[in-house]
Amino acid sequence: MLEILKAEVLKSANALKQNGLISLTGGNVTGRDPESGYLVITPSGMAYEDLVPEDMVVVDIDGNVIEGTLKPSVDMGGLLYIFRHRPDIHGVIHTHSPYATSFAVLGEGIPCALTTLANEVGSDVPCAPYSRPGSETIGIQVVEHIGDSNACLLQSHGVISVGTNVRHALVAAVMCEDAAKVIYQAKSMGKVERLSDEEITYCRELFLNTYGQ
Ligand SMILES: [Zn+2]
Repeated sequence: MLEILKAEVLKSANALKQNGLISLTGGNVTGRDPESGYLVITPSGMAYEDLVPEDMVVVDIDGNVIEGTLKPSVDMGGLLYIFRHRPDIHGVIHTHSPYATSFAVLGEGIPCALTTLANEVGSDVPCAPYSRPGSETIGIQVVEHIGDSNACLLQSHGVISVGTNVRHALVAAVMCEDAAKVIYQAKSMGKVERLSDEEITYCRELFLNTYGQ
């Protein structure tokens, strides 16, 4: 079941590694099928390059395994909380991407000081307070702190990105890391100036309504 979504979830997990956002078996990708409401989630502790789409795990919104033989990601409880509370979101990605996680280690969000961050993440990236890995509290904190951003840092842990589908969550994860790298470099040279709210809105709307084919 859900062959297309399984392939998309695995392709995105491999893209995380190709873009340097995860090491070894870290991170996870989850997509929700809008029709059935079932979720396709990457299995726990597996190297994505060794997997095939059939290895992805199908679960319902309560975490019951509907299809698949492998154990789903250990973070599933928190991820399901996000899906339950955000019906607009159908893709969630978790990474420990190094530049964004450096901000998370400081407990600092990433200021929206770049047009590319405004375009593709839509605002500052907030930092949610520390929660234990694997706990549902991660999801509770993300829902409370993410606001209208497509990404949220987890203090001393990593990053959660979200989107209307898996592809959009992947774009947010990559662009969040890209912006974190540039802003980290800029901070080492001087003061970082955040874009105004008006410019952030302009950039986001341009991206949503004009960019691409
Ligand atoms: Zn993690």
